[in-house]
This record gives sequence, C-alpha cells and structure tokens, in this order.
Amino acid sequence: TEHQRTALITGGNKGIGKEIARQLAERGFAVFIGARDIAKGRETSEELCRQGYEATFIQLDVTDPVSIKNACGTFSQKADHLDVLVNNAAVLEDHGENIIKLNTEMLDRTLKANVSGPILVIQDFLPYLLKSTIGARIINVSSGAGALNDMTTYAPAYSISKTALNAVTRQFAGALKSETIAVNCVDPGWVRTDMGGPNASRPVEKGAETIVWLATEAPLSETGKFWHDKREVEW
Ligand code: NDP
Repeated sequence: TEHQRTALITGGNKGIGKEIARQLAERGFAVFIGARDIAKGRETSEELCRQGYEATFIQLDVTDPVSIKNACGTFSQKADHLDVLVNNAAVLEDHGENIIKLNTEMLDRTLKANVSGPILVIQDFLPYLLKSTIGARIINVSSGAGALNDMTTYAPAYSISKTALNAVTRQFAGALKSETIAVNCVDPGWVRTDMGGPNASRPVEKGAETIVWLATEAPLSETGKFWHDKREVEW
C-alpha cells in the first residue's frame, strides 16, 4: 500500500497555519490541525474535511507540556509516523515598547510560546518523525524579525524569540544530522492574518509557499537554514 504522508501543523486553526494545512492536504497529506482551542480547531478540520481533504483536529497548547504529551497520545491513535512537523503557532504581545522598558514577564510568555513550545513539540514528536520512511521535515515558522541585522525596526520580545527560534533550528539540525530529518526555519514575509494585520502585503497563499516547499519538494539535504521565498537568507 502507498505510504500515507502525514503532517502536523501547530496553530493550524487560522492564518498561515491553516493555509499550510490546506496546501499540504491538497498534496495528499493526512493533516493534523494542532490548535489550543477545541471549537476553533474542530471547525478548521471539519472545513478541510468538507472540501474532501483528510484532516484531524488535535488539541495542542504549545505552552502546556501536558497538552503536548496528550497530543502525542491522540496522534498515536491515528498514525504511526510523522513526515512533516510545522511549528507555526506563535504570539506577538509587544505593543511598541522598546528594550529599555521591556516587560520581562511578557518576554517570558513570548519565549515560552515561540521558543520552548517548538522545542517541546519536536522532542515529544521525535519518535514519530524517526518512523518516517521518506525522510522527515521539521519547519519552524520564524520571521524577518529574527534576523539580527534588522532588529531595531521590530518588537523586541517577538524579535528575540524569533532569533532564538532560528538558533533552535540550527541546534536541532546539528543534533539530527545522522538521521534523515531536515530542520529549517522560514520568514514568510508580511502576511495578511490576525497577527500581520489587514495592511500586510502578502496573502496567506504566498506566506505558506516556502514552508510547503520545504515540507515537500526541497532537497532533504537542505537543513539548518533560514529561508525566504525559497532562498537561504542570512540572519
Ligand atoms: P495568527 O495570529 O493568525 O495565528 C497564530 C496561530 O498560533 C493561531 O492559530 C493561534 O491560536 C496559535 N497559537 C498561539 N499561541 C498558541 C499556543 N500557546 N498553543 C497553540 N497555538 C497557539 O498568526 P499568523 O498566521 O500570522 O502567524 C503564523 C506564524 O507566522 C507565526 O509563527 C508568526 O510569528 C509567523 N509570522 C507571521 C507574519 C505575518 O505577517 N503574519 C510575519 C512573520 C512571521 P488561537 O487561534 O487559539 O489564538
């Protein structure tokens, strides 16, 4: 029988995450919609199912280690391997503060969701990624705000979290070098979502493009890199 490709997308209920799920489902993946809110997650997975795709909701709050463990349990009842993990869920809590006045409790919350969350999700789903027979791919959704050379124009807590996520990506790529698991991060550009706002230049289809490319067509040998529009960029 044909190998059923599987993908888990955190924060898959809306925005770029939902579009990544749709595009992967369109390519034949069984997609797992990770969402912290049960109603919102179910609504999205049901919407994809109505469109003829294979989608399953999994409750997953990336800031709650118990929720991540439970998500693994739910996943294991439906699939025995994971080919693609997209760490897409993130928060942007800054409101124009600069580092001089930075609220470090807000920084802690941001790092918990945007950095520790992806680390824990990778750690807990690693056994399933290792069972992929086609080579697994982990994509961390980062931001141009993660690039050290363009830091002043961005919100500090968010920016620091994305620079850290890029470093986490490189660490995992190194640690998994001997396995057939590629680990990359992506700047999707400025995208029209609740986070990006209505004035953003890109539709979600464009924001998801490079992430879906890394999840499917990009050579597995590409690992530990930061990408924008299918090109490696410095950070
Ligand atoms: P949205 O705010 O539209 O969506 C964010 C998603 O993350 C939602 O599904 C949200 O769930 C989820 N989420 C937040 N916290 C948690 C949590 N603790 N557990 C589980 N899910 C959580 O943002 P975008 O779609 O724009 O952002 C997607 C990714 O793209 C993020 O990593 C973001 O940093 C990145 N990005 C976005 C840019 C843009 O211009 N839009 C630019 C650069 C990067 P809920 O619905 O429950 O809130």
